Parts: sequence; C-alpha cells; structure tokens
Amino acid sequence: MDFLTKKIPDNELKLMYKDYDSLGFGMIYTDYMFTMKWTKEKGWEKGELKKYEPMSFDPASVVIQYSQEVFEGMKAYYSEDGRVLLFRPFDNAKRMYKSAERLCMTPVPEDVFVEAVKELVKIDKRWLPKEKGTSLYIRPTLMGTGVALGVHPSPEYNFCIFITAVGAYFSSGFNTVSLYVEDKLVRAVVGGVGDAKTGGNYAASLLAGLKAEKEGFSQVLWLDAKENKYIEEAGSMNIFFVYGNKLVTPKLTGSILPGITRDSVIKLAAHLGYEVEERNISIDEVVKGIKDKEITEMFGTGTAAVIAPVGGLCYKGETVYAGDNKVGKITEELYNKLVNIQYGEDEDIFGWVETVDTI
Ligand SMILES: *Cc1c(COP(=O)(O)O)cnc(C)c1O
Repeated sequence: MDFLTKKIPDNELKLMYKDYDSLGFGMIYTDYMFTMKWTKEKGWEKGELKKYEPMSFDPASVVIQYSQEVFEGMKAYYSEDGRVLLFRPFDNAKRMYKSAERLCMTPVPEDVFVEAVKELVKIDKRWLPKEKGTSLYIRPTLMGTGVALGVHPSPEYNFCIFITAVGAYFSSGFNTVSLYVEDKLVRAVVGGVGDAKTGGNYAASLLAGLKAEKEGFSQVLWLDAKENKYIEEAGSMNIFFVYGNKLVTPKLTGSILPGITRDSVIKLAAHLGYEVEERNISIDEVVKGIKDKEITEMFGTGTAAVIAPVGGLCYKGETVYAGDNKVGKITEELYNKLVNIQYGEDEDIFGWVETVDTI
C-alpha cells in the first residue's frame, strides 16, 4: 500500500495468546496501531503501522480543549472457513466522513479509511478470537491535535486506529437487559451533533448513564430534547419495538445516531417479510403498547452488542416488561440471521461482507 510508510515484516509479529473465557469488552488491546497525520502545509502524510503506544498532544490542542473528535466502531470476524471478515466497512468510512464534516475537521478519504483498517487487521489478526460471538473491535479515531485556543478548527489532525479483542458486549450474554428512560437530562438536540459519532455526545451522556446503572439498568433510553416525549435511542444502541409482525424504530430526526446495525436490521427484516416503520414513537405509546401487550418484543442494535434483547423499561419510577421479559422470537431470528452473515456462514445477499485476509 503506497499510503503506508513501511510494511511490518512477519517475523516481527508475535503470535498472541488468547484467553477466550475472559475477553469482556475493551479489556484486551492488541500490540499494533495505525496513525496518520494531516497538516495545513502537507495535507495527509503517509500512514504508519506501529507498536501500540500512548500519544502525546499539546495540552492546548483543540481535541482536548474543545472536543474536536469523531470516531467509529466496527468489527473483524473469523469465519469457519478461515477468512477474516469486515462488515460494511465503507459505511463506517462514510459516516466518519460526515461526522468529521459536521465538526469542521479534515475528513479521512473513504478509501484510505478502509485500506488503513484492513492493513491493521491483517497485522492484528493474530489476536482474532475464533469462537462465534467474539471478534476484533476496531476503533478508528480522528482528532484535532493542533492548537487553536481561540476556538477554531484545528490546523492539524491525527487519524488513529486501535483494536481490542472482544467477547459479548453484555456480560449477561444473550439475555434481556432493562433500560432507564431518562426524562430530564438529554443527550442531543436537533441541530446539534447527535447524529455525528463524536465523543462529546458520550461525555454529555455519562451522568444519566451512571444514574441508570445505580438504579440497576444497563443503559439509558433517551427522549427527544424538546418535548421529552419521543423516543430517540439507547446509550450506544438504536432501538426497535416489535408489534406482532411489525417493527417500529424512531425515524432519524437529526439527533439520533444513524446506526449501521439499525440499517442492516431494517433491510434484513424487510427481506424476511416483516413490515418495518420508521416514525416518531412516543414513550406514552410504548408504555401503553407494553401494558396492552401490543408490543411483544424490544431490542437495541449496535456494532458492539449486535442485537441486545430489551425486556423492561423504567419510566417515571415504574418498570414495565414486554414479552414476559424473555428474549423474543423475532429478536432471536434477526440476531441469528445477522450474525450468520457477519461470520460468513450465510450467503451475503446484501453484499455487506468483505474478506480482508485468511488465517
Ligand atoms: C455507534 C452508535 C450506535 C450504533 O451504531 P452502529 O453503526 O450500529 O454500531 C448507536 N448509537 C450511538 C449513540 C452510537 O454512538
């Protein structure tokens, strides 16, 4: 690849021990990373694959002072026939491009993004766990590393990618989780940066997240910032409600992160013959739908968890459960179908899967 400064010779790469029983999420970091720098003078310089190490920036850099940062989350999967697979990597590249534009950052060209991810995965495939459900979680990150204390876009950017070997996102496995519906604090407002994958959204979410955890819930379910009425999304997942054979998910209003898993589930469900509606859905409609048993299943979607069955919602001190707090049939069907595509077991009917390498 001519966008890299150098190739890492195979004999420098050690085979890594993998303890499948204790993978968790974000616990095991691989030994290599990718970095690439942009400056006003030189544009994008060549990218570098190097040993994982801390990075140093000026304390006055724009990323540190004003949170000029965007990131992505994607996975590499091991298929039984020995291939290393990526899932819809160009969609991550496109989304990061858009997020960067929203934050006035120099975006990473989409083909460079995908090639850089592939080059790092080829090196880090030594860490790829092979058990189904496990994967390499890839975190491309773009930061404004230059100094502009007078609040302006950074004159310098750093694009880095690192990887962690992961197991299932929720320690409870494929079981239902319950969500805490936050009716005072808000995550994002239309016109803001809610639809950009930027760290600031997460910083803004921490307080509500801690409160939810303290109450025994795994994530927050956010409402719209204007009326505290319409459901937006969960902490790091988009949300779906199942009414019999119909799936309903909040439409993308501008304050919701456009999840690639969300989009995949919409397409997959339609292909399987389910009706799918993207529309505004109020918390009152959902609570009533659960109580009347019209809502039979609920689930969240996101790269980290893939599909997380949701059993209960706590709203204004009352917790209501859909489908007797059990994993629903449609939830499980969609999970299995999606995971089988991601792990290269089912036919890739949508053209979502890319082979990076073999093991
Ligand atoms: C990343 C993310 C999602 C899920 O997006 P995927 O592309 O499906 O991984 C949902 N909500 C938020 C806030 C996110 O940051």
